[in-house]
Amino acid sequence: MIWYPYEQMKGMKEPWKIVDAEGVWLDTGERKVIDSVSSWWSVIHGYKHPELNQAIISQVEKFSHVMLGGLTHEPVQRLSDKLQSWLPGDLDYSFFSDSGSVAVEVALKMALQYYMNRGESKRTMILALEHAYHGDTFKTMEAGDDEDYHFVLKAYGESPYVVHIPTEIQALEEAFSLYHDRLNCVLVEPLLQGAGGMRMYEVSFLKKARELCDQYGVLLIFDEVATGFGRTGNRFAADLVLPDILVLGKALTGGYIGHAVTVASRKVFEGFYDDYPEHALMHGPTFMGNALACSVALQSIEIFEKQDYMSKIRRIEEITRREMKGFWAPGIEEVRIMGGCVCVEVKDPAVLEGYQQFAYERGVFSRPFLKYLYAMVPYVIREEELVQVLGCMKEWFEVS
Ligand SMILES: *Cc1c(COP(=O)(O)O)cnc(C)c1O
Repeated sequence: MIWYPYEQMKGMKEPWKIVDAEGVWLDTGERKVIDSVSSWWSVIHGYKHPELNQAIISQVEKFSHVMLGGLTHEPVQRLSDKLQSWLPGDLDYSFFSDSGSVAVEVALKMALQYYMNRGESKRTMILALEHAYHGDTFKTMEAGDDEDYHFVLKAYGESPYVVHIPTEIQALEEAFSLYHDRLNCVLVEPLLQGAGGMRMYEVSFLKKARELCDQYGVLLIFDEVATGFGRTGNRFAADLVLPDILVLGKALTGGYIGHAVTVASRKVFEGFYDDYPEHALMHGPTFMGNALACSVALQSIEIFEKQDYMSKIRRIEEITRREMKGFWAPGIEEVRIMGGCVCVEVKDPAVLEGYQQFAYERGVFSRPFLKYLYAMVPYVIREEELVQVLGCMKEWFEVS
């Protein structure tokens, strides 16, 4: 049987079975519902997109996959070239992998080894944020700060390698004054912390982090697995503040195939590029640079550019602000909006019990978690569809 994620299997509600999907709509055969979650924030172009479908079909007729160990191919070369020209600054060196968690692992390994290669083996610590989420593999759990996901790590006790701070400049300065000579990196989800509760913070914090990293020679890593490709209303947070390592996933392939990339700046790459074989980056996921994933990622970026997706995202934010204006109800802690993300945080998780079924009956698929009711819609959503999603959220608080 299937072991489903993040669920007590005993007594788990039967999941809805999807038989078809098109645009923003999921079809169970009995009912069509708008996917207000974009399949964990990845399906930015909607489902069954003709050009994305075609990108995969054309490639599958040549070959689906060859390994990157000793081999290479056009889709991965073209995607790497595209990222090099499209991403800001000298983020030019793309290391591919099959999921966001692995790509963050790669980033952390890079940061650690970057200093080992220079003989600075004392720099073993990561400075991360409270409520951080970076994936479900072991090092990413350690860098994360969410009991609900990662309580199993308690078995090992407190990690001496990670410090968590709130998104406050003072906390950042204090952490640097305490740990600057032991830190190898600052790792953040920039501007928007997703799985930790759609928490939004100011760019001034990132600017300060950049400044301190430069001052003390610490690497700055942006985990943009969730925030990349426009979700915050910026193409990438890296367009505002340049990190040394950038991690992309989720929307990279438009949600078609699991794939991710760890992009290093020239400085980081040059920390490995020398005459010592032992300075090589010893990592190589079997399916890294998968040809189908790279083909669809290229097509996804092309559509994102040609159809001016940033204006679509601005429109989503405008409509969301308009629809949520003045919305309030007892039990609500805060309503937060940033780019293509809206979150209603409630005071008590019990307030959201039953919402998923309520929404389903009103033609919306939603997946609130803990105290957070949110929408991260596909960017191709039409105005009336978005109004339906937001109206459903508001209606819940009127009737409950
Ligand atoms: C989803 C997510 C990850 C993990 O990506 P997977 O593809 O699920 O492994 C890492 N970082 C952030 C910020 C994420 O939102």
